[in-house]
Amino acid sequence: MFKKILIANRGEIACRIIETARAMGVGTVAVYSEADAGARHVVLADEAFPIGPPQPAESYLKGQTLIEVALKAGAQAVHPGYGFLSENPDFVEAVEAAGLTFIGPSASAIRAMGLKDAAKALMEKAGVPVVPGYHGDNQDPEHLAGAADTIGYPVLIKAVAGGGGKGMRRVARAEDFADALDSARGEARTAFGNDAVLIEKYVEKPRHIEVQVFGDGQDAVHLYERDCSLQRRHQKVIEEAPAPGMTAEMRAAMGEAAVRAAKAIGYKGAGTIEFIVDASDGLRADRFWFMEMNTRLQVEHPVTEAVTGIDLVEWQLRVAAGEPLPMTQVQIPLKGHAFEARLYAEDVPKGFLPATGTLTHLEFPTGARIDSGVRAGDTISPFYDPMIAKVITHGPTREIALARMTRALERSEVAGSVTNLTFLAALTRHAGFAAGDVDTGLIERDLDGLIADPVPEPRLVAQAALAASGLMAAPAPMAGFTLWASLERSVTLLCAEAPRQVTVRLSAADRAEIVVEDRTVIACRDASGWRFDGARAVPMARAGARITLFSGAAPVFDLVDPLDRAGADAAGGNLIEAPMPGLVKAVFVAAGETVAEGQRLAILEAMKMEHTLVAARDGVVAEVLAAAGDQVEAGAALVRLEEDEA
Ligand code: ADP
Ligand code: ADP
Ligand code: MG
Repeated sequence: MFKKILIANRGEIACRIIETARAMGVGTVAVYSEADAGARHVVLADEAFPIGPPQPAESYLKGQTLIEVALKAGAQAVHPGYGFLSENPDFVEAVEAAGLTFIGPSASAIRAMGLKDAAKALMEKAGVPVVPGYHGDNQDPEHLAGAADTIGYPVLIKAVAGGGGKGMRRVARAEDFADALDSARGEARTAFGNDAVLIEKYVEKPRHIEVQVFGDGQDAVHLYERDCSLQRRHQKVIEEAPAPGMTAEMRAAMGEAAVRAAKAIGYKGAGTIEFIVDASDGLRADRFWFMEMNTRLQVEHPVTEAVTGIDLVEWQLRVAAGEPLPMTQVQIPLKGHAFEARLYAEDVPKGFLPATGTLTHLEFPTGARIDSGVRAGDTISPFYDPMIAKVITHGPTREIALARMTRALERSEVAGSVTNLTFLAALTRHAGFAAGDVDTGLIERDLDGLIADPVPEPRLVAQAALAASGLMAAPAPMAGFTLWASLERSVTLLCAEAPRQVTVRLSAADRAEIVVEDRTVIACRDASGWRFDGARAVPMARAGARITLFSGAAPVFDLVDPLDRAGADAAGGNLIEAPMPGLVKAVFVAAGETVAEGQRLAILEAMKMEHTLVAARDGVVAEVLAAAGDQVEAGAALVRLEEDEA
């Protein structure tokens, strides 16, 4: 076994690898960019070295720098994690040329599976069923359109170099083909520097079921399947193992095909064979087709660990160190059911917009495995994937594992950034999902019902107002002390961008009437704390003027200081602020101009996306505070409107 390994990654997966290495007595070397100095993975590792500026291209993607650090630290092997350089065959070759071991497959196995067209051709030859379609060299638009006609609509255009759902377009009708091809190509060129595409039959009622494989270069086994059908824009949201409704016959057929695929390329290490399944008629052994192979550890590997009891990172280290596969196929257990939910800093009602922020509060309940790379006080920066944690639950049955997931999500507390927590919890309560009736269109179809109403109930506004007014902690009445002067405070809270006026009237130390617009909420305090209209106060966190309640949509309230012009401006819709750090691409208005509600004022580019900023109301531009080309911080004022006379 290795004495010391370098982990060429960051965040959650770097922490995950360090934990297993430590348990095996293997020393760990972490690397970090300037944005990650002091990050959790840096603190956990035995040693850590800086590798450059925050941008991945300047740090985590600098293969030669990583190899130099490994040699300097005396590491014998490099674990790439996932993302970054994990599927880069040139990096594998450079690692090996430096006399180090790459913990993963050979460069040639990665190359064989790197492009979707070549991989499909190879799998076809190995007798693995592939999605019917065209994956040849002729990239002439007319030829591709002809192929689509032959395959029959709907079809899917896919970038051969694709990943992360990019460069993919579903086309329902022949007349839409040319435009879809253009846009898929454009996206592929920008994202992968390769605009070649393939055409596939779009599978009806599609389910994404993948098989975990493991090879030692001689032999290969599978560790059963994972169902990753709950997706949003082709990205996985909640994964589970085993797949609901899986039959012994289908499992055997899929497992056998996956092992055949791994053996065809002499596979060494952990890999995933992704299949698309036509579930319009239930799960049938002749209705699954190879989509692609991911030649690395997968984000969702913990669900497989939960149902098999196997530590996949331990297997990766053992196989890379030259040991044979630790178990034969029949020895691999399958026990119970597991789920994983990906908790992200993102604004769900705003179209799942990635978010940033400093996590002022972060607490998870017991009863779930939490894989996370951040702690309370850490920042979700715009440079990397905005994942906060993976929440994993296991149980003897699917129903119990799912109930544990709902409970874990409902009791997770995150403040300092918007998250998809409420959305995930709503998804676990979805009747179709609970029944195991999943397909990749489920989320999109039922999106409205899964997105929580951002307007909180009066009782929650009342709790936030009591806390904000500083009266929640008023001393309890002392025995014999009867003189109590009633107190009244007015506060303005900003919630979901709307100002809420609240009056708090403390009529006794343990009683308050809280007027939230036209509703009065009665608050009473007993030995267990405050109750609002009889309901117990929900957990909350306060950071400066911001209060987050951990209930339902986890509403955030900002106490507006009446003396603070910026606060008042924001509350009245006077200020248009940058929702996240980014680059101002364009400003469309000038001082003195009249604007209408919803009018486009500026464009901000952040996290590889363009965000249009619009006027919150009709008005006149008082000041333009940013210009095209400016790099701005989150919350920076870009445009100010004149005070609204009405
Ligand atoms: P899956 O989510 O199925 O494992 P993906 O290929 O979509 O597979 O991505 C794996 C993960 O790797 C992503 O969720 C992301 O966290 C990470 N990742 C992928 N590409 C990058 C990148 N360029 N920089 C940082 N992280 C990345
Ligand atoms: P990526 O490399 O971006 O992960 P994949 O080929 O794995 O690309 O496809 C991503 C997702 O797109 C799948 O998980 C599935 O939801 C959907 N998809 C892919 N191929 C098909 C198909 N032929 N029919 C229907 N849906 C598909
Ligand atoms: Mg995929």
